Amino acid sequence: MKITRITLYRYDIPLKAPIAISLGTIEHARNMLVQIDTDEGLTGWGEGSPFWMIVGETQASGLAAGGDMARLLLGRDPVDIGGCVDALVRYLPGHPTTRSSFDMALYDLAAKQANLPLYAYLGGAKRPLVTDETIYINTPERMAEDAVRIYEQGAVAIKIKLGTNAKDDIDRLYAIEKALAATYPERSYYNVPYRLDANQGWSHVTASEVLYQTRFIDHQFQYCEQPVRRAEIHHLAKLKAEGNVPIMADESLFDAQDALRLVREGAVDYFNIKLSKSGGIWEALKINTIGETAGIPCMIGCMSESRLALTANAHFASARPNVVFCDLDACFEHALDPVEGGIQYRNHYHIDLPDAPGIGATVEPEFLKQCEKVIIA
Ligand code: MG
Repeated sequence: MKITRITLYRYDIPLKAPIAISLGTIEHARNMLVQIDTDEGLTGWGEGSPFWMIVGETQASGLAAGGDMARLLLGRDPVDIGGCVDALVRYLPGHPTTRSSFDMALYDLAAKQANLPLYAYLGGAKRPLVTDETIYINTPERMAEDAVRIYEQGAVAIKIKLGTNAKDDIDRLYAIEKALAATYPERSYYNVPYRLDANQGWSHVTASEVLYQTRFIDHQFQYCEQPVRRAEIHHLAKLKAEGNVPIMADESLFDAQDALRLVREGAVDYFNIKLSKSGGIWEALKINTIGETAGIPCMIGCMSESRLALTANAHFASARPNVVFCDLDACFEHALDPVEGGIQYRNHYHIDLPDAPGIGATVEPEFLKQCEKVIIA
């Protein structure tokens, strides 16, 4: 099989409302889609959601870099995923989100040629997957309302974005707990843990203070993601040693080299793998293997992808039992869903994978017609 044509799409999806995290606010999912066509009539699809504040890529830089990446892949065999990914990395280090959209389309093609759903192509089985739902930074009152709504919808875990300052963040946590306690005095919500995410927003002193204070809230805090800046591995290790809340690396973990360093320094309890940081499934598999070998369970996370990339993420998670947490809720914030096929959310949070070969998801042709595109052939 040979790659004959690659089409890049500007893939914009409006949000229901702006989303705020400690790094900033986004008002639109400005994603990119990659369509890879082959001489055997098979087509692969991949999506990247460049979250510039984390990965340093924008939709515009991704589409520009993507044109060069596409030219490198023309004429290659897409089943040679390792060879293709290596060519992209050698030519243009960085740009992990853009690379991940190509990597995803290659896996889609390889699994389609093998006539297997992607999870089976990756050597795994279909497992029950359940996502959490995220509460974004807002007033304590508004975040508390969101927590009650999410619990009522049957969530298994509530992810809470923090990372502003100690007082406001502690107020937010107390407001959430108080609202749930007032609504459910029998404490039925105790089996739905909180997952904190500061997105690098705290100093290690602030992180220590907030995570110490959470001990006085009588509720399980499953972990805290990325309390401090990306480079501060030693502070992650210190917070882990304090032992108030298990620590998860997100922005400190892009690729397998980062994973090795985090293991060597005993810095974290958990890894948050995102295809948009790792450059795709090829590298994500390495990260998970390092985590599994070191006794570090992983989460699969997302940026602001549509159900197309979220489906690829879910296949990866299903195929690797060391992925124990799913944070695949990006499309909950999208005002429209142009994806055909793909994962379905049963009872809001339970993820059902498709059985079709490959990723099993495409974007509606009608929606694609109005997306700006570039064809490389
Ligand atoms: Mg995070």
